[in-house]
Amino acid sequence: MIYFGPSGNDDEFYSLGFKHTTESAPWLKEKGLNAFEYAFNRGVNISDEKAIELGKVFADNGIRVSAHAPYYINLANPEDELVEKSYVYIISGLKKLKLMGGNHLVVHVGSQGKLTREEAISLIYKRLEKLKELLVKENLCDMYVCLETMGKPAQIGTYEEIIDMCTMCDNFMPTFDFGHINALTGGKLKTSEDYEKIIKLCYNKLGEKRTNDVHVHFSKIEFGAKGEIRHHTFEDEKYGPEFGPLARVFKKYKMSPMVICESRGTQSKDAKIMKEIYENC
Ligand SMILES: [Zn+2]
Ligand SMILES: [Zn+2]
Repeated sequence: MIYFGPSGNDDEFYSLGFKHTTESAPWLKEKGLNAFEYAFNRGVNISDEKAIELGKVFADNGIRVSAHAPYYINLANPEDELVEKSYVYIISGLKKLKLMGGNHLVVHVGSQGKLTREEAISLIYKRLEKLKELLVKENLCDMYVCLETMGKPAQIGTYEEIIDMCTMCDNFMPTFDFGHINALTGGKLKTSEDYEKIIKLCYNKLGEKRTNDVHVHFSKIEFGAKGEIRHHTFEDEKYGPEFGPLARVFKKYKMSPMVICESRGTQSKDAKIMKEIYENC
């Protein structure tokens, strides 16, 4: 089983007059999609009742749900007190997502700021150690914190860095954002071999279970010397990456990832395109 769906509600959803995410589940099902990523981007504000209601609607329609933690998280912040809020965002995000019936919470680990890369990474490891303890304490060991690969050099999160961080704890897994990886490397993701190198590293370091279930973001992303600039739609022909070569790797390794489309405004349409590419490759 492989899962395809949008990140949040897209332009088409709103243009059809839909307003609430509960309406999204039957609509996605009708399109043949089976995943949805809920955005806690600006805070974890949903009530428990609403989270349970959403979870039920998604489950009734066969849609697997994940969530994206707030953008304010920075585990590389030099001030310990300022990191406390990051833990709160992650733990509260996991709890709400659990009520929704999902288990993949996407997290950006942080930015380098004025630190050297080594200093920032060593701070992140220290904070992830604490997060690991919190997961046990809060009874969240059935959940995955999905650390995302990032698209700008100033952000922490090359795919190698992320895979290494995930070796710390069985509840950490990568979110491979292949648009980001492509932007960060100046457009190096082209062939199946390029993608396979990343998947193989993941298998070798994290094992079969987590690699098969890995979280994926996919969109075409414009980039420059400083990495990611903006997300485009699949109609864009100038910027990559292409999904076909990656779909072949998913098939070859019989993987069952959640593949979330982050196109600019056309997430559900492009998720459907990815599903078709996968089925026909
Ligand atoms: Zn993200
Ligand atoms: Zn992403």
